[in-house]
Amino acid sequence: MSRYQSWGRYPKVLQSARVLAGSGARLDLAAGECVLPFGNGRSYGDSCLTGGTLLDTAKLNRIIAFDTETGVVRCEAGLLLCDLTAATLPAGWFVAVTPGTQYVTIGGAIANDVHGKNHHVRGTFGAHVRAFELLRSDGTRRVCSATANAELFAATIGGLGLTGLISWAEIQLMPVASSTIDQTITPFANLADFMELAVACDATHEYSVAWIDSLASGANLGRGLYIKGNHAREADARGAASSGQRLSVPFELPVPLIGTTTLRAFNALYRRQTLGREKSASVGYRPFFYPLDAIGGWNRLYGPRGLLQHQSVVPLGPGLSVVAELLERSQRAGFGSFLTVLKVFGANASPGLLSFPMPGLTLTLDFANSGPAVFALLDQLDEVVLASGGRINPYKDARMRPATFAASFPGVSQFRAHIDPAFCSLFWTRVAGAA
Ligand SMILES: Cc1cc2nc3c(=O)[nH]c(=O)nc-3n(C[C@H](O)[C@H](O)[C@H](O)COP(=O)(O)OP(=O)(O)OC[C@H]3O[C@@H](n4cnc5c(N)ncnc54)[C@H](O)[C@@H]3O)c2cc1C
Repeated sequence: MSRYQSWGRYPKVLQSARVLAGSGARLDLAAGECVLPFGNGRSYGDSCLTGGTLLDTAKLNRIIAFDTETGVVRCEAGLLLCDLTAATLPAGWFVAVTPGTQYVTIGGAIANDVHGKNHHVRGTFGAHVRAFELLRSDGTRRVCSATANAELFAATIGGLGLTGLISWAEIQLMPVASSTIDQTITPFANLADFMELAVACDATHEYSVAWIDSLASGANLGRGLYIKGNHAREADARGAASSGQRLSVPFELPVPLIGTTTLRAFNALYRRQTLGREKSASVGYRPFFYPLDAIGGWNRLYGPRGLLQHQSVVPLGPGLSVVAELLERSQRAGFGSFLTVLKVFGANASPGLLSFPMPGLTLTLDFANSGPAVFALLDQLDEVVLASGGRINPYKDARMRPATFAASFPGVSQFRAHIDPAFCSLFWTRVAGAA
């Protein structure tokens, strides 16, 4: 199985790649060659794939400097988040924003300006980046920050790898007393109850997210579990309290294991973990932030045609009714989303020109790629989201239409000026190439 595929495993396009030797390496492109940096392929769709050559950053994995007094770390861009955390957490420093997997690179986290369970408090990953060096195809190396090459800085954060190759980045980490999270899981009956919990808890909790039972309907539409947490105040053996990867899906399954029957069983089991009551526990940071990492290669459960993720964000005003409509349309079309996640994004402005988050409700739906009917449903969901003033996440996407992308991101025309002419992705060619 090739390393060079996206997490959704759709589309399947053979990729050629060149492994960069280190952050001092030059790009040395052939005339007319088109390239795209590759982190660790944890993007779901085609934004990490190219019709040209991938520049694999796996060997750009050194920590260059770490100041344990200030929590400022400078590292090469191919460093995995798990390796950064292993080095800094014992000294009491953790990334201010982490996505739901620790197997992303720092370059990938910047290029997608990723968000986490504390968006309502800390905004996106890019908000904590102090500077980075960008290698352009003309051979220049540009150090970018909020004050130096500021426009290129903003275009590169959330810039989907199209503005050049980030060789190193300097990041401000967050002090934590403990790697343990004091977690509370609260069952809720429907979307209105979710919103009440979010309003009450987001003021007091660093982290929050809700799992939704996508098959519940009627008065129970949007029922689920609200998961909130804070770093424990007590010092501990930081990083030691958590478990690593336990299970793995060893080979590609010939058919998807994800269907309505398995989904019903999974949802019932998941919901029953609290037995209908609020449940509190201290948990390690890995099971709290990265529960899916415990099952290596879980994306293969979706079968050979892969999975399609649909993440939208819609303004708070119409938010709940839009989320209800997205869930109902999926149910009516006969597609249950396997893992359905709902969260309130806060008001912190994203630093990137094309950053996905905006204030509102973000809903993430996962569907097996079962053929044309699921694509038709996803087009319908896009329309509902756009009509409400919302947008679709590009780095989870493999099929949105150019008009959907243009309507989602008005900053695109400003962004174009910063694209490196030798950089291209399948995503960009598909949604924005012709404009
Ligand atoms: C289980 C799971 C949970 C997830 N949870 C979340 C979540 O909670 N929040 C969230 O926001 N995302 C989430 N994601 C998505 C993931 O965090 C992002 O797609 C992330 O950016 C992937 O990083 P990567 O290193 O694998 O980069 P890749 O997927 O390989 O590449 C991502 C983009 O970054 C560019 N890039 C990579 N390296 C560089 C570089 N050195 N210089 C310039 N550009 C570069 C690539 O060209 C590409 O456009 C999740 C993904 C998975 C699989």
